[in-house]
Amino acid sequence: MAATRARVHAVDTGPSPIERYRSLLGEEAWSQFDSAMRAFAAKLRGKVVWNVNSAGRGGGVAELLAALIPYDRSVGVDERWLVIEGSPDFFQVTKRIHMLLHGVSPDGSELSAAQRAEYEQTLEGNAAALVELMKPGDVAVLHDPQTAGLVPTLTGHGVKVIWRSHIGVDQPNDMVRTAWRFLTPYLETASAFVFSRTAYVWDGPDGSRIHIIAPCIDAFSTKNQDMDGHIVAEILRASGILSGADGEATFLRNDGTAGRVRRRANLTASLPVDARIVVQVSRWDRLKDPSGVARGFAQLVAPHVDSWLVLAGPTVNSVDDDPQQSEILREVTSVRDEMDARTRDRVVIAQLPMDDTEENAAIVNALQRRADVVVQKSLAEGFGLTVAEAMWKGRPVVASRVGGIEDQVEHGRSGILINDPNDLKGFGSAVAGLLRDPRGAQALGNEARQRIIRKFLAPRHLMEQAELITSLV
Ligand code: UDP
Repeated sequence: MAATRARVHAVDTGPSPIERYRSLLGEEAWSQFDSAMRAFAAKLRGKVVWNVNSAGRGGGVAELLAALIPYDRSVGVDERWLVIEGSPDFFQVTKRIHMLLHGVSPDGSELSAAQRAEYEQTLEGNAAALVELMKPGDVAVLHDPQTAGLVPTLTGHGVKVIWRSHIGVDQPNDMVRTAWRFLTPYLETASAFVFSRTAYVWDGPDGSRIHIIAPCIDAFSTKNQDMDGHIVAEILRASGILSGADGEATFLRNDGTAGRVRRRANLTASLPVDARIVVQVSRWDRLKDPSGVARGFAQLVAPHVDSWLVLAGPTVNSVDDDPQQSEILREVTSVRDEMDARTRDRVVIAQLPMDDTEENAAIVNALQRRADVVVQKSLAEGFGLTVAEAMWKGRPVVASRVGGIEDQVEHGRSGILINDPNDLKGFGSAVAGLLRDPRGAQALGNEARQRIIRKFLAPRHLMEQAELITSLV
């Protein structure tokens, strides 16, 4: 049966001036960055760079694209962002592939022929829509397993395709290999493969097509822009996270206009203004282990240090490509319900409003800045942008030593790493230790910020991607 043409939708990003980075980089690095970007724009004249993924908001890939595309556009590169369309069944299949690529199979089963058929049919419909927009000679960066099946049609149309995987594990097991086997047939004609770390490179593709580009954050986005303590408190009050009156909860939008936080989070309770706060910000996903965070906090932190935990994530049903989130939210809510009343009051589950992505980003920014300790107790993690975001804000981080988190945090110097992600005791003791030692915590936070400036800001990423694309055209 022929697939019907899907409706891909464009995400409009507008430009952001690269000059913003001038003072942060210093003159020498700035001039290198500036000339690399101008050369890139000159080389790409007449061609479009298309990014294709499966969600216009929510999660790390959307965050990365929203941060980077505006800078390329500001130097004159015609870069665009398209989001594919898929049914709930398609996203069930891609969620399963996502879990398998992390080495996890929730029910032990593999991918069936029916699931492959669902995957192919959905992507056939999307590919038909994409070839009407793309010209031969354009470049397409396809992100993650959701888009791998588009490669043959697009390369057949004369488009140079880069397939980028944002996820992986250090030690692939049989489940990971199952996912590789599922995806590999689609990828043969891609011009390049991008992985976030060397350890994530698959068996198979020849080395000359493989490139490593670590993700990054944008220091000037609504998520990461500087915010003084007064505004932080106002934003947290306006969203209901801190109790008290609502004042001027303003922030700067990415297009330079003023925004204001007006929507309230869906919360189990508000926190007192002077609370000491431990925060994890994540999609409601099993691999982020929100239930483990709640248990570790309840057993090892709350009984010893006067503090609160905030588990923050998007309002459920607002992230289209993630069908599991209501189940995970229910799970963590029941873990909280089973706690004794005193501890339960200290654990706040916050579903942040997602109607306006920048309002959501401003709330996340304020919450990360207000946190005494930021945690990321992931069981597996591609990169972990939330870690970089907290480090940039000078926050002490306690995180699992998994995936890209290990590239970001140097244990004991720019944060604390927990070797075994299931070690509740190690996790809880590290958090309690930092809450008891604000000076030591601040020293980790200061070092963390410097590390992000050195290694994980947008200019480094923009130059690496420009070099790769230039080499292909
Ligand atoms: N995020 C957000 N609002 C939320 C939850 C998460 O903006 O309610 C953002 C978070 O700040 C980060 C991204 O989503 O920028 C998550 O990226 P990460 O690499 O940590 O994990 P992923 O979701 O890609 O697995």
